[in-house]
Amino acid sequence: LRTRLPAVGTTVFTQMSQLAAEHGAVNLGQGFPDFGCDPRLVDLVNEAMRAGHNQYPFMTGVPALRSAIAAKVEALYGRSYDAASEITVTAGATQAIMTAILCSVHPGDEVIVIEPAYDSYLPSIALAGGVAVPVSMRVGDQGYSVPWDAVAGAVTPRTRMIVVNSPHNPTGSVLRAADLDALACIVEGSDILVLSDEVYEHMVFDGQQHESVARHPVLAERAFLISSFGKTYHVTGWKVGYVAAPAALTAEFRKVHQYNVFTVNTPMQHGIAGYMADPSPYLDLPAFYQKKRDLFRAGLAGTRFELLPADGTYFQCVRYGAISDMPEAEFAKWLTAEAKVAAIPVSAFYSRPTESGIVRFCFAKKDETLKAALESLSRL
Ligand code: PMP
Ligand code: GLN
Repeated sequence: LRTRLPAVGTTVFTQMSQLAAEHGAVNLGQGFPDFGCDPRLVDLVNEAMRAGHNQYPFMTGVPALRSAIAAKVEALYGRSYDAASEITVTAGATQAIMTAILCSVHPGDEVIVIEPAYDSYLPSIALAGGVAVPVSMRVGDQGYSVPWDAVAGAVTPRTRMIVVNSPHNPTGSVLRAADLDALACIVEGSDILVLSDEVYEHMVFDGQQHESVARHPVLAERAFLISSFGKTYHVTGWKVGYVAAPAALTAEFRKVHQYNVFTVNTPMQHGIAGYMADPSPYLDLPAFYQKKRDLFRAGLAGTRFELLPADGTYFQCVRYGAISDMPEAEFAKWLTAEAKVAAIPVSAFYSRPTESGIVRFCFAKKDETLKAALESLSRL
């Protein structure tokens, strides 16, 4: 078979969730909440279904939802996107990422990806015929950071796009205003596009603000800003997200979107649109997750794991060198089987073999789940 992605297997998230189930382990691997969403959101979706919102919506998304997204982005980040021509509702962030890449990357074009990187970027680039150019983050006592000099050094005349992700999966690091300035210096005056994966935009801790590309005019004018309601509203299984991008980019995005999904399920879009009228669920999210982060970090402080900073997302990275010298994938499996706690090896987020002795835990879990995991981890 001459297939397009011969080297790609099942994602590490699926593998580790399966292993967790086999061993009856607490699953702190795959990133998803083990608690429910707000019942009011479910009611709104039910009402939309009963009101007959069950046929195809517009290809671009339900207008009320696009308007609600535009209003939110403007209120939080100060840039006004036109709901009709600059916002498109997608089947989660995954489809938005794939579509943004397919509509803009030509065969042979280079796409700079900062690693560790979320696992869907590289296959999306490969399917477009593009060439991924990985640049590794630096990791030191202050945690992970992006070496912008190395990003600048990776730019060539073939560079078509730079992918950034903040808050960052898997490291929990966040880009600061100075990082966006550095990125802007690299792309200004070029035709390089930016794909900004901001699915964890509402999970930034310790009073810091999320630095969206929408805040930065040089970046916003060339960026696909992508987010996902799955993360924000605790509904990862609903697969509803969006892309905000200048009209010219959005027009190209929609050419691909209309043929790879055409549109996204109608009742969820109506339900989410109604729910967005109240900003408190996403405004309250930093405090909600910061409490879980603090509970989890306080528990881990009494173990032999070494904590890395966790400024955003619902992930906590730890060094395990005091417990084992196994490679990360092996350690994650051992931890699942022996300690009955599943984690994700950070090596899975690199295109080249990279061992840092670090694994990722997801703390989007009930407090009792986190406490059960901590009890096991403290015995190591
Ligand atoms: N980007 C990042 C960084 C993610 O962590 C995820 C979710 N795991 C996605 C994109 C995909 O989001 P969705 O589930 O909305 O497709
Ligand atoms: N984004 C989730 C994570 O990083 C998993 C998504 C998936 O399973 N594809 O854990």
